[in-house]
Amino acid sequence: MNSYDVAVIGSGPGGYVAAIRCAQLGMKTAIIEKYATLGGTCLNVGCIPSKALLDSSHHYEDAVKHFEEHGIDIPGDIKVNIEQMIARKQSVVDQTTSGIDFLMKKNKIDVYEGLGSFKDATHIMIKGSESTEIEAEKTIIATGSKPSNLPFIKLDKERIITSTEALKLKEIPKHLIVIGGGVIGLELGQVYRRLGSEVTVVEYMDRIIPTMDASLSKELNKVFKKAKFSMNVSHKVKAVERKGDEVIVKADNKKGEEVTFKGDYCLVSVGRSPYTEGLNAEAAGVKLDDRGRIEVNEKLQTSASNIYAVGDVVKGAMLAHKASEEGVLVAEIIAGQKPHIDYNLIPGVVYTWPEVASVGKTEEELKESGVDYKTGQFPMRALGRSRASMDIDGFVKILADSKTDEILGVHMIGARAADMIAEAVVAMEYRASAEDISRMSHAHPTFTEAIKEAALAATDDRALHS
Ligand code: FAD
Ligand code: NAD
Repeated sequence: MNSYDVAVIGSGPGGYVAAIRCAQLGMKTAIIEKYATLGGTCLNVGCIPSKALLDSSHHYEDAVKHFEEHGIDIPGDIKVNIEQMIARKQSVVDQTTSGIDFLMKKNKIDVYEGLGSFKDATHIMIKGSESTEIEAEKTIIATGSKPSNLPFIKLDKERIITSTEALKLKEIPKHLIVIGGGVIGLELGQVYRRLGSEVTVVEYMDRIIPTMDASLSKELNKVFKKAKFSMNVSHKVKAVERKGDEVIVKADNKKGEEVTFKGDYCLVSVGRSPYTEGLNAEAAGVKLDDRGRIEVNEKLQTSASNIYAVGDVVKGAMLAHKASEEGVLVAEIIAGQKPHIDYNLIPGVVYTWPEVASVGKTEEELKESGVDYKTGQFPMRALGRSRASMDIDGFVKILADSKTDEILGVHMIGARAADMIAEAVVAMEYRASAEDISRMSHAHPTFTEAIKEAALAATDDRALHS
C-alpha cells in the first residue's frame, strides 16, 4: 500500500492548490479525483467555461451592435455558430485542465483517478476502474459542491437544466427562463441574451445579486432591463413542468398572484450545495454541520484532528480564489507555519458586462452594525476612457470610516471592474484611508481613475471630474 504525508480528495482550485503547496513544502502528496480530468467544477464546468462563453458572446454582440459605429463594416449577415462557440470553450477547458496535469507531474504529486472514500481516519479507498487503498497521515477534503435544486423541480438536464448543461447547449434557446438572479443566472443569462434568446429572470428576493451592495443590484438591473431582459424579483417559484419542448414555470408574485412563464429552456441557478456523497466521512470521524458542510474550526481542521477541509465543502463564499487561499493555508498549517486569511478581503465578482465587483462591507452591513461611515461615488460615464470605448454604465463607490477615513468597503460596476477590484483589496489589506488612494497617481486614461475620483469624493467631496 502506498503511504503519503498528505492525501487531497478533490482536484478543484481548493484541492489542486493545496496539493501543490504541500509538495512545495516537502510533503509526499497524493491527489484523488473521481473524474478523468483535474480542475474540479471551476475548470471543467464553472469559472473557465462560463468566462469563455461570456467572451465569445461579447464579441458577437459587439460585432452586431457596435462595429458599425466604430467604422467597421462587415458584408453580409453576422451569424452565431453555436457548435464552434461550444467547441472553442471546450478547447479552452482542455488546455486549462491539462495544465493541472502538468503541475501535478512537475510537483511530483501522485494522481489517483476514482472516488475517494474513507476506510478510517488514515486510510482511503479509491474506487476507480481498479480499486486501490492508500495510507495518509493527513488528509485534506476538497470535494466541492454541486448545483442545488428546489424540491419540486425535476431536472431533466435537457430543457430543465443546471449551469453544467447550459455550458454545452446544442442550440440557442428561443426563450430561456432563469430561476435565481444570482451570479450563475445573470452570467449565463447574459450569454444567451447576447446570442438572441429572450431571457426571463425569476428571483425570490426583492433584488438581483441580493448578497452584494444594493446599489450594484440596482445599476445592474437597469442595464439588464435596457438589454430587454424580463426581470421578475420578489417571485416565489412554485412549479416547473415540461410539456414536450415547452417549459412552464409558475410563481407567486409579491401580491400573492400566480404568474406563469413559458419558455423552451429553464436554467435552475438557485445556489450550490456541499458535495460529500461517497466520501464516507463518518468512518473517519469527520462531522458535517446542519447544512451538510464539513464542520471545521478556524484552522480548517475537522472533528478528526488529522483531517482538514477547504473550499465549497466548508462554510463561507463558494468562490475559486477562496478555496485556493484555504488550500494554501491548510498546507502551511500542516507544515507548522502560522498563515492567515482575512475573509473580509475576499473579493466577489460577477462577470457580466458591465462587470460587478466588491470587497469589504456593503452599505447595508455597515448600517446594520451601526458603523458611522461616509460614501464617495464616481460615475464611469465621466471618464474619458469610458467614452473612448463606449462603456459608460456603472460607478465606483467607496465606503470609509467617518472618523478615521479607513476604507471599509469598495463596490464597483463597470468595464473591467473584475480586474480593478484588486486595487481595493491591496488598499484594504494595508488599511489604507480614502485619502491615501486619492493621493496616488492613476494612469490616464484608465478605468481605474474612477477609483481615485471615488476616493476623492469620500475624502472631502472633492472629486475633480464630476
Ligand atoms: P470543486 O471545484 O467543486 O472541486 C471538487 C472536486 O472534487 C471535483 O472535481 C469533484 O469531482 C471531486 N470530488 C468530489 N468528491 C470526491 C470524492 N469522494 N473522491 C474524489 N473526488 C471527489 N468561482 C469564482 O471564484 N469565479 C468564477 O468566475 C466562478 N464561476 C463559476 C461558474 C459556474 C457556472 C459555477 C458552477 C461555479 C463558478 N464558480 C466561480 C465557483 C467555483 O467553481 C467554486 O467555488 C470552486 O470550484 C470551488 O472549488 P473546490 O476546490 O472547493 O471544489
Ligand atoms: P447564488 O447564491 O449566487 O444565486 C442564487 C439566487 O437564487 C439567489 O439570488 C437566490 O435568492 C435565488 N433563489 C433561491 N431560491 C429561489 C427560488 N425558490 N426562486 C427564485 N429564486 C431563488 O447562486 P448561483 O448563482 O447558483 O451560484 C452558485 C455559487 O457559485 C455561488 O455561491 C457563487 O458564488 C458561485 N459562482 C461564482 C461566480 C463568480 O464568482 N463570478 C460565478 C458563478 C457561480
